[in-house]
Amino acid sequence: MRVAFHNLGCKVNSYELDIVRQQFLEAGYEEVPFDQEADVYIVNTCSVTNIADRKSRQMLHRAKRENPAAVVIAMGCYVETAKDVLSDGAVDLAVGNKDKKNTLAILRAYEKSAVEAGSTGEIASGAVLLKHAGRTRADIKIQDGCNQFCTYCIIPYARGRIESRPQDEILSEIRQIAADGIREVVLSGIHISSYGRDEGRQPEDALPELLDRIAEIPDIERIRISSVEPGIMTQRFIDRAARNEKLCPHFHMSLQSGCDRTLKRMNRHYSADEYYESVLRLREAYGDPAITTDVIVGFPDETQQDFEASKAFLEKVNFYQIHVFKYSRRSGTPAATMDGQIPEREKARRSDILLELTAQQAAAYRAARIGRQEAILPEDAVLVDGRKWFRGHTERYVEYLIPEDAAASGRMVRGTAAWLKEEGGLMVLKDLQF
Ligand code: SF4
Repeated sequence: MRVAFHNLGCKVNSYELDIVRQQFLEAGYEEVPFDQEADVYIVNTCSVTNIADRKSRQMLHRAKRENPAAVVIAMGCYVETAKDVLSDGAVDLAVGNKDKKNTLAILRAYEKSAVEAGSTGEIASGAVLLKHAGRTRADIKIQDGCNQFCTYCIIPYARGRIESRPQDEILSEIRQIAADGIREVVLSGIHISSYGRDEGRQPEDALPELLDRIAEIPDIERIRISSVEPGIMTQRFIDRAARNEKLCPHFHMSLQSGCDRTLKRMNRHYSADEYYESVLRLREAYGDPAITTDVIVGFPDETQQDFEASKAFLEKVNFYQIHVFKYSRRSGTPAATMDGQIPEREKARRSDILLELTAQQAAAYRAARIGRQEAILPEDAVLVDGRKWFRGHTERYVEYLIPEDAAASGRMVRGTAAWLKEEGGLMVLKDLQF
């Protein structure tokens, strides 16, 4: 039996799809590319914007076109937010977020016609471990759900309230993937800054405690946090986190706007000044951490003045990288019906301005590393002008190349940062130590 997978959306989605993929491969399925004929197509959908809904539908229809006899499974957030996914002729089975790990059992039950489509079959309980053959970095989901209700976001409706994964379950999964060669774990979730809150704990205590326990696993050399809110960056959190030597000084701290008026209408729970205080605390503790962020342009009624205020704030913080998103209307959210929707052309203009800014800031951050001692974990092979190199990232998520033979051990490689091609921004490590 052949199975094809397609993932849309965030890191949590991709982590969850990897678990489903592993189950199918262990059950003897052969994975084929999504544009080839398969017996089962699984689309891990996203519903974060109307465009994501549309892409989810498109991929489901593409699968059915590829092989009308195949079982097409819609999985994830679009299943939760769309009224009736099964009424769409392309979809045979719909699996919600909480049932993803049961997908194989649901499919088997469907095939035997033992249960009605959409309900869960019997499954073995407990986390399913991933094999990360040849990989050194892996995402680990530590929580799900969100209670924040930002006015542009459908996620709290699609994934429900916060739910932290038990610490022991996370640790046991990490121990096993470390035995498979994983050296760096990236803690992922929908709202990591809420970790532990559903169990009555303060995230600024529960998260550092989890980080410390992960750091005790000998083969894990690095821990990265995928995304946090500025509110968790209190002095108490930073003091404790900074003592954890395996925690990377790379913090992706969601901003969304540098303008207070816009932040308020987005229902974000901080001001630009409070965000900046978190940045200063991180810089005080880490010297030169990589601070990256997400920003939305063209939120309803974002005036030119608001946009200028947001841009000025981005210049002041001087981020390593900014992920720029054009506001996309998501039906079912308060922002979708707000007055003052911004024309697409204006959103694109604002986006281009910020993309140029982030290109400059990122180039300056990377250039400042030249001549320093850096360390990377080899990740994957790349070809540059016909020569094979290995690529990896430092703890600050700066990318370097190393010669192919230097990557063989899969362990950390240290060296001096230098340009391979300054024009293309390609950097290498030289004078290597292992
Ligand atoms: S914090 Fe806001 S943007 Fe992030 S998932 Fe929750 S509601 Fe959505």
